[in-house]
Amino acid sequence: MSDSAWHRLIEAHARAGAPAPAAVPAHRPMAAILACSDARVPPSVVFDQPAGSLFVVRIAGNTAGDAVLASLDYAVDQLGVDLIVVLGHTGCGAVHAAASGACSGDLAPIVEPICRIARARPDADVDEIVRLNVIGTVRALERHAGPVGIAARSGRLDLRGAVHDLRSGRLETATIDPTHLPSSLEAS
Ligand SMILES: [Zn+2]
Repeated sequence: MSDSAWHRLIEAHARAGAPAPAAVPAHRPMAAILACSDARVPPSVVFDQPAGSLFVVRIAGNTAGDAVLASLDYAVDQLGVDLIVVLGHTGCGAVHAAASGACSGDLAPIVEPICRIARARPDADVDEIVRLNVIGTVRALERHAGPVGIAARSGRLDLRGAVHDLRSGRLETATIDPTHLPSSLEAS
């Protein structure tokens, strides 16, 4: 089965037949995107950007663990990125798992921040937790001790959150309303 998928990828690559560039272009992305791994939400498609435009870090549930933070630190510190977008999406499987209580075991490293939100807001449906999780990840980036947090707190880095709606195809910004923010989002 996987052999078949591999061959489909190799054949598609051959069909694409991208010509070799005259010179390897400089790596100067206009933004970094922290997105869920969900196959339906590729950032370059969502934002209609060509190769070279976006520095993309993807992890199921778009949470900011140590490796994710280090990758984004690299984008800010070494590539000069001045915008990071945290991109969640409706119907997220990782958020659904966290909301269903799958907070230990293999998924723990990625769902732990989402589980804190789900426990604080047991009334919230999956898509509301998706939105709160995007906001929580933006907050985590703001608080980070490394280059991302330093640049954000000094105003040199713009941090944005957005949710891609799989049903409508629309993108909605995830804004922070302090009066509705669970205290779990403020925890370190
Ligand atoms: Zn997802």
